[in-house]
Amino acid sequence: MKKDQLIPGRRAVLRITACLGAALTCRLLTVEGPAKTPGRAAPASPPQATGLKAAGPPKALVPRNPSAYRLRPMTESAPAGFSRAALQVRKEPLLELPELGRSIVLTFDDGPDPNYTPEILRTLRKYDVRAMFFVCGEMADVNGDLMREMADDGHIICNHTWSHPELPLLPPSRMRTQLARTSDVIEKTVGTPPLWYRAPYGAWNKKLFEIGAKLDMEPLAWTVDSLDWTNPGTNRIVSGILDGAGPGVVVLSHDAGGNRSQSVEALREYLPSLLDEGYRIAVPYR
Ligand SMILES: [Zn+2]
Repeated sequence: MKKDQLIPGRRAVLRITACLGAALTCRLLTVEGPAKTPGRAAPASPPQATGLKAAGPPKALVPRNPSAYRLRPMTESAPAGFSRAALQVRKEPLLELPELGRSIVLTFDDGPDPNYTPEILRTLRKYDVRAMFFVCGEMADVNGDLMREMADDGHIICNHTWSHPELPLLPPSRMRTQLARTSDVIEKTVGTPPLWYRAPYGAWNKKLFEIGAKLDMEPLAWTVDSLDWTNPGTNRIVSGILDGAGPGVVVLSHDAGGNRSQSVEALREYLPSLLDEGYRIAVPYR
């Protein structure tokens, strides 16, 4: 069974480091809710003074706008005036995205899988929100229609290696191949290469950060592991995500790699709850 996890003690250290790195160096532009002007992204959010997660959910409710969900191409172009700086070689992955303000980032790993991904896409579409999908190349290669459906809906397609190995166990040449081959199939399928990658099992090392930067991708881990890969029951997944919710939090879930029925069902419950609590569901530009 495929799964991704971080050692809890290490997570806290990584999180603080990543927050600092993100606050200082990572320019992020948000795509939050329905786009008002097709083809143009939302304006940049001002960086927040702190990268640390707030203690509780925001009080103010953000009205939902049930507009058309097919918004614009995935990451075809950055907004006017936005320039991509050369990527630094990070020492740790990003664990949360505080620049996104009172927003939560939903991420789904290991797919696309025709058994579960369509239902997840349907639910995201129902609530008019975008998510990040960290796809495996071997899955993307045989599920091109689902890839295009993701892109058409405005989701961000990201790189999760070709076959989900524990990358630090591989020689650098094979690490690179795992990522580069996956980026190639993503670009071939949806027309744009991924800007983000995530190491399977949360297993990162220095060489991987070097390779990722050379391939023009940023490393994104997560803040809250839904633990859906343990099949703990839908209620446990829902409560875990709602308990961990906070501004800038990145949630890890899975749409493949095993029976993901609980992940599918949980999304139907926690997504409207997060929206009712006043969170926006956002995806970043780099
Ligand atoms: Zn994974």
